[in-house]
Order: sequence, then structure tokens, then C-alpha cells
Amino acid sequence: MNWDERIIGERELKEFFKDGDDRNLASLAKALVEHQKQTWPLLGEGYLSLETIETKQFQVRESRVVVQHNPGRRRSTTARVDRASVEARKCFLCSDALPQEEKGIAYGDLMILCNPFPVLDNHLSIVHRQHTEQKIAGNVEMLLSLARDLGSEFFVLYNGPQCGASAPDHLHFQACSRKLLPIENDLGADDLSSTEDCAICAESRNNFELFTLADCARSVVIFRGNRGETIAAWIYKTLASLAGDFSAEPMINLIATHDRAGWTVYLFPRARHRPYCFYAEGEDQLMISPGAIDMAGVIVVPERDHFERITSEKLEEIFAEVSMSVEEVDFHVEQASETPVSEGLF
Ligand SMILES: [Zn+2]
Repeated sequence: MNWDERIIGERELKEFFKDGDDRNLASLAKALVEHQKQTWPLLGEGYLSLETIETKQFQVRESRVVVQHNPGRRRSTTARVDRASVEARKCFLCSDALPQEEKGIAYGDLMILCNPFPVLDNHLSIVHRQHTEQKIAGNVEMLLSLARDLGSEFFVLYNGPQCGASAPDHLHFQACSRKLLPIENDLGADDLSSTEDCAICAESRNNFELFTLADCARSVVIFRGNRGETIAAWIYKTLASLAGDFSAEPMINLIATHDRAGWTVYLFPRARHRPYCFYAEGEDQLMISPGAIDMAGVIVVPERDHFERITSEKLEEIFAEVSMSVEEVDFHVEQASETPVSEGLF
């Protein structure tokens, strides 16, 4: 089956619209999830188990972190993403590998699909129609426009090929309901809401902010503003500094939101993909494989006994191991600030 045969239009999705929903991309995406729950048994089961999923909350330094026991994510958490393993398997994001029931919404060169193993509500996989490698160079603009078009109810994420993407060979983003996005609380809700409700402020707020968050146990760089080109240019400059002399993409995760105040992008510079406890044995093993959602404060744990063993100290340790150090991140942010925009593409 090719991508065109999988496209589902507004007419078919109409009966899944909720009363009062505007005909925008967010409503279409939510209707797609409802449609697929009914027509694709695997997805129906995925959402049923999401309803009964167990969670625990932890305070990790100044940050609230939610830990989720989600057995459905076992395959993704343990996925082999080294080059040899990826080359040896068939790509599971190409259209011909997807189940017959899987339908999507066309969005430019991308297809908006439902993630069959949801971590959060309305969990979407947003997949390029071509089998082209997962990379951020040249694709930040796509991430920003997705965040804008899906609107304030969603966040959009990008997992680097070496730190969270289980298909490093096929370009894709994800999006989820923004109802649970703990890292947002660390930004200071007061600060955001004061500008969000005022149309005049939002319009006149043609500024740009770049800063790092302190004391949330992992390194995160925040880009905030209402001009997409400015944000993209600064993200590219920061990525160029993080990449240094290497031609490879630096290890990163990105989360983007958009509302009346503009975009907020969270960049998590990483030191490693999986923490030591992932490879440990017996009582010391915690199978946690952090991607953007985990870095944003929702830690996914597929194994029951590992879920039981999590502590706040352990979470702090994991964040510290997989994050680039604060000193290094500060250095790169400073270096990016001194780079002219035109030299920022890596
Ligand atoms: Zn593919």
C-alpha cells in the first residue's frame, strides 16, 4: 500500500470531530486518533492500556518528574539502533511495512499517523513520505511549522538518530497532547500565562529569548519567540557549536510548543543515549532509554520491577549521565551567541 492510499480526508473524519471543534489540523489529528481506535485493533488496545497505566511522581531537584510503567514500550525501549542492526532489518516506517488499517493525514512531505504504542494522549508519529535519514539539519523549520499548525494543545518532538529515535534511518517527528509536559512547569507558569492571554502583548512581543534552565537535574536550552526564522537560525547556530569539528549531528532531543505567545523550543544536549543502569544486571538494572519525552519529565519504564525500584536519586543520576554538563552547554550557548547567523548552518 502506498502513502496516497493511506490518506484519510476531512469527510471521513467528520463524524469523529468533537462538538465545537474548529476545522484545523489539531481537530483533524484528534479525529484521526478516534477513527483509528475504532478501525485499528492494535491502536484501540494501546489506548485502553494507557487508561490504566500506573504512574509515580518524583521531585528531582527543583523539577517534577512523572514515571510511567508502560509495558507496551518494551520494543521501543530496547530497540537496537546501531548501524549494523538498522541495516539488517526492514524499515518499519515505510508505507509498505505498515498495517493495512493504518491511515494518516497528509501534511506536505509528511504523513501524520497514530503511534500504536502511545505514551501520552493523542500520540502521533509524523513520518516523511521518503525513506530518508533522521537528521535535524534543514528540518528545524518543519518542526516549528508542525508545532504552529498543531497549535497549543500539542507539543512536537524530535529524537536524534543516536539518542531516542528507534528508526534512525527514516525521518520522523512525534507529537502528543500537551496536557502532561512537566518541563513546562520548570519554566514558570506565571511568566507564560501573563503574555498568553493578551492579544496586544502577543503581537507586540516581537522578541527572542535564549536561556538555560538551572536546577532541573538535566541540561536544557530554551529558545522562545514569535518569529520562526529567528528561532530556527539560533537553533542551527547552537547545533553548529555543539557539533564542533565533527560532521555528525550532535546528540540532541527537541521539544517544541506554540501558542499565542509564540514558540518555545527545549533543546536537550546529550552526553550519551542510555544510562549505565540500562546495561546493568540483576537488581541494578533499570531499563530506561531516554528520548525527548523522558527528558521532558515523563520517564517511560516498561518493566514492572524496574518501575518499583525507581527513586528520586536514581532519576537524578540518570539525567546527569545522559545530559551534557552545564559548563559545556553554557560554553556552546555563548559560542552560538558570537556566531553570525549566516555561519550557523552545520
Ligand atoms: Zn523507511
